[in-house]
Amino acid sequence: MTQAISMPSGGHPEFRTETMTYAHCQHCGRWFRTDLRFATVEDFELARIKKSTRTCPYCRKRMEVRKEHLRFDEVRNDARIKHTEGRYFL
Ligand SMILES: [Zn+2]
Repeated sequence: MTQAISMPSGGHPEFRTETMTYAHCQHCGRWFRTDLRFATVEDFELARIKKSTRTCPYCRKRMEVRKEHLRFDEVRNDARIKHTEGRYFL
């Protein structure tokens, strides 16, 4: 499932980019998609993630989501996929 987002100024208008942010569950080790949104990899890398908790859809446990637990995927319309993985750990 993908969702198109609009590109803010400063982006690359020739590419339509879809982005997804995943969190690495600290309990079961699976990745689940979050509602965190970043337009670009740079935004993701520079962002300060507010401390928040999410419930893992797989094991139903709550975890505190920090930057180290996040992964950012960028999908462009030229079919290239970029993964930027944080320093997630179990
Ligand atoms: Zn889990």
